[in-house]
Amino acid sequence: MKVLRSRNRLYKINLKIDSPVCLMSKLDEPAWLWHARMGHLNFESLSQLSSKDMVRNLPKITHVTNVCDACQIGKQTRLPFPSHASFRATKPLELIHADLCGPLTPETWSSNKYMFVMIDDFSRYMWCSLLNSKDQTFSKFKRSKGLIEAETCQKMVTLRTDRGGEFTSREFNQWCEDQSIRRNLTAPYTPQQNGVVERRNRTLVGMI
Ligand SMILES: [Zn+2]
Repeated sequence: MKVLRSRNRLYKINLKIDSPVCLMSKLDEPAWLWHARMGHLNFESLSQLSSKDMVRNLPKITHVTNVCDACQIGKQTRLPFPSHASFRATKPLELIHADLCGPLTPETWSSNKYMFVMIDDFSRYMWCSLLNSKDQTFSKFKRSKGLIEAETCQKMVTLRTDRGGEFTSREFNQWCEDQSIRRNLTAPYTPQQNGVVERRNRTLVGMI
């Protein structure tokens, strides 16, 4: 824009306001609509949800062979690592996978940038909380542990994380020791060893 300076050193611009435009996306095909509504859930699971009547008002989904372009592009990654001696917990809270995911861009309305995710290996139940900054991880974990243990009437045994600074600080380690939580750290630069939670992060971010 280029305008002349007026006498009182103001730069006045006359802008014409355009009439507002509202954009709306619309899907006519119910299968595609519900695919999008459920955060790009695969069609196999969608049809399972509908056949078992697990979602109110979900129509019958029949063509499970639909291929979604967005899913194809957004969800493709490297092949999974060969799973060596994949240990599976035998009771709730025996093994908890945790990870901090972020920074998320754009941040949420309440300026949260990180997602702290904990998954129970046995049930694959997930606890997820939003954080402003990384340094809230420790206090969030302390609080969540108490709540989770109360909720499940079980005691947390092992915690598996990567070697991120938020999980390896002295106070974090000390607290885990005091609480008799066994630590299980994955090898550096090998997110594949933290597969359970890394996979779930992808699902979450995909849905966002
Ligand atoms: Zn999709």
